[in-house]
Amino acid sequence: MKECDFCGDEFDSEEELHRHWREHEDELNSHQKEKVKKAERKYEESKENKMRKRKRYAGYGFAAVLGLAFIGVVGAQLMPLLNSSGSGDQVYEFDLEGEPYQGSEDANVTVVEFGDYRCPVCEQFHSRVYPRLEEEYINTGDVKFYFINFAFLDQNFPGDTSETAAVASECVYNQDEEQFWDFYDALYNNQGSENEDWATEDFMSELFNQSTSGLDHNQFQTCVANKQTLQEVRQDTRMGRSSGVTGTPSIYVNGDKLSSWGYNTVARAIEEELRQ
Ligand SMILES: [Zn+2]
Repeated sequence: MKECDFCGDEFDSEEELHRHWREHEDELNSHQKEKVKKAERKYEESKENKMRKRKRYAGYGFAAVLGLAFIGVVGAQLMPLLNSSGSGDQVYEFDLEGEPYQGSEDANVTVVEFGDYRCPVCEQFHSRVYPRLEEEYINTGDVKFYFINFAFLDQNFPGDTSETAAVASECVYNQDEEQFWDFYDALYNNQGSENEDWATEDFMSELFNQSTSGLDHNQFQTCVANKQTLQEVRQDTRMGRSSGVTGTPSIYVNGDKLSSWGYNTVARAIEEELRQ
């Protein structure tokens, strides 16, 4: 398994990893950029080759079916060996009563994200991985997705943006559980730089107006100004600390802490649980 140095996601081959690096374009050096181009060229070539072969072997359909059946049998036996996406043996149990979730109430797989709205990598998880999970697993009823605050970055940077953003999101949640997710999207989509104290009360008000509708604005402002949901936020963060969270985003699949937040890693862990 090849691991991405930028996001920790895992790939079956070096070539796949290098094609994935396209997503980290801004962070690559020239050497790595060359590798991306080379891997993409190879991928295109092999696609063309396959098409050519497919035409050539069109008459050997029966042999192909036999071959696939064989691969299916061998593949099924290899699968369990290839599926250790979790990092440890410990399975955590969370008290998720009253926490915001997306997806079907009786989904078999529970994914928990511990996140900090100030964290740029959480923004990457939100923009690159989360939409794919939503489409493939949450909207299909397979996965119930929880977000839990792990508001810890204020200790490293000026101001209290982690906490204010989390407090504001809980203030929305208290008014409307569905619209919490619109505000969650708005926070990540409008994230400022990590070392700026961007989650001011005014900005939270603005995002509230942009992303929610029909809620009580005055009640929201009072809630944020008086930090009325700070206890919930701190309780979330404590739950993270007692469950092995040290950084964000931390992703758990049915209580198993994953070694990375990359899509392949998360999807593999979900698939493994769905098979059980
Ligand atoms: Zn990556």
